[in-house]
Amino acid sequence: MSDQAHSLRTPIVAVLGHVDHGKTSLLDKIRGSAVSDGEAGAITQHIGATAVPLDTISEMAGSLVQPSDFDLPGLLFIDTPGHHSFSTLRARGGALADIAILVVDVNDGFQPQTEEAIDILQRTGTPFVVAANKVDTTPGWNPVEDSPIKPSYDGQSDAARSRLDENLYELIGQLSDRDFSADFYWRVQNFRNNIGVVPCSALTGEGVPDILAVLMGLSQRFMKAEMEIDVEGPGEGTVLEVKDQQGFGATLDVVVYDGIIREGDTIVVGASNEPIVTEVRALLQPRPNAEIRVEKQFEQVDSVGAAAGVKIAAPDLDNAIAGAPVRVVRDRPEEDVVEEVKAELAEIEVGTEEEGVVVKADTLGSLEAMANALQEAEIPILRAEVGDIAPRDVAVAGTAREAENKAILGFNVDVLPNAERELEQAEVRLFSDDVIYQLVEEYDEYVEEMKRSQQ
Ligand code: GDP
Repeated sequence: MSDQAHSLRTPIVAVLGHVDHGKTSLLDKIRGSAVSDGEAGAITQHIGATAVPLDTISEMAGSLVQPSDFDLPGLLFIDTPGHHSFSTLRARGGALADIAILVVDVNDGFQPQTEEAIDILQRTGTPFVVAANKVDTTPGWNPVEDSPIKPSYDGQSDAARSRLDENLYELIGQLSDRDFSADFYWRVQNFRNNIGVVPCSALTGEGVPDILAVLMGLSQRFMKAEMEIDVEGPGEGTVLEVKDQQGFGATLDVVVYDGIIREGDTIVVGASNEPIVTEVRALLQPRPNAEIRVEKQFEQVDSVGAAAGVKIAAPDLDNAIAGAPVRVVRDRPEEDVVEEVKAELAEIEVGTEEEGVVVKADTLGSLEAMANALQEAEIPILRAEVGDIAPRDVAVAGTAREAENKAILGFNVDVLPNAERELEQAEVRLFSDDVIYQLVEEYDEYVEEMKRSQQ
């Protein structure tokens, strides 16, 4: 392996935060303003992700980013916001995303999903920046034409502390309560140890270039070593989604975070039973200039190198699961790769007890997040699995000894038709939601209610 084969990849960025705080708007703004500021080639649409090159970021962020100071190529944003996708997307036991933006509505402050997102970021040790969003709606904001926004913000006199100041300071306080040392980003020296807060508006775009500049600086200064990849090495990625694609059958939307995947490569993919070993038939990417968000028009490519999002077409992918690893077999025996994939899956599988509830979730990552939440709430788990709720799950839940444990907690999953019937007959209670804390709360309330009625 020559030194030349090594290079630095794009850091992978995830956007997290409470519902309605502006995650989707912020992602749209990043894509939109990149397009209008930088024109052709300003961004590249990937499968499930958007790449914003360094030149575009520097064009947007002006003096905040000097391309000569950077050798990382830009930023790759995962298109699906929220901590559900964040925890689904793992790489080698850690988070797939290298860095994150935590979006907080500056008027609303910390909310349950903000807390959840912080828990996950802390647990995975993911560095992040806080986007204090919706500043345009708060009294005290002085809109400015150009970012950086700092001068207009700092220009406000201390004597006339605005509502916005109060909100921003409160936010910094809330971060401190969570043991983070946080401050306005222009006062932060070391973004690895301190959380930078960027006042911004996903609506007007103020502060958005500043967010990009902070992310760029943060990854360049503190994460360069982790971005080093062997460009010719066997590709490694994480399944974002398993999707049926006309003409190809089941395909995988994958984010590749290391090495290279080529057409014809043998790959090993994590599945609901044994890992799948198959051969890449086609690698698909959105056709350049295909309009963002319009149902994708694909073009076939020979290979994809990290970091990138790609659709993989290959035989036998039906049992693949979202969140599972994908590895190319190259330079070493297939069995070793299969064992590695198995080990990675086993790491994610949660420990189960002799007595407890049944948990079903749509992906490995969400299953793990559910298991963590239940553990924190001291709710025991009898069985935890990925997949829709099947009759077998009802039967297993029915074997619980305690009445309160005769329950299934389903996260983002459907109930299979024949399981509906079983549920009616068996004395098993179903809790279903797509917000983890709500699911745990609903179950807790049910248990409380049950205890009260027994007294
Ligand atoms: P998500 O649930 O976190 O993805 O939030 P959305 O991006 O869907 O935003 C929720 C609502 O807030 C939408 O109506 C947005 O238009 C609005 N919104 C988001 N960001 C801003 C902002 O910076 N300023 C204002 N005024 N509205 C915003």
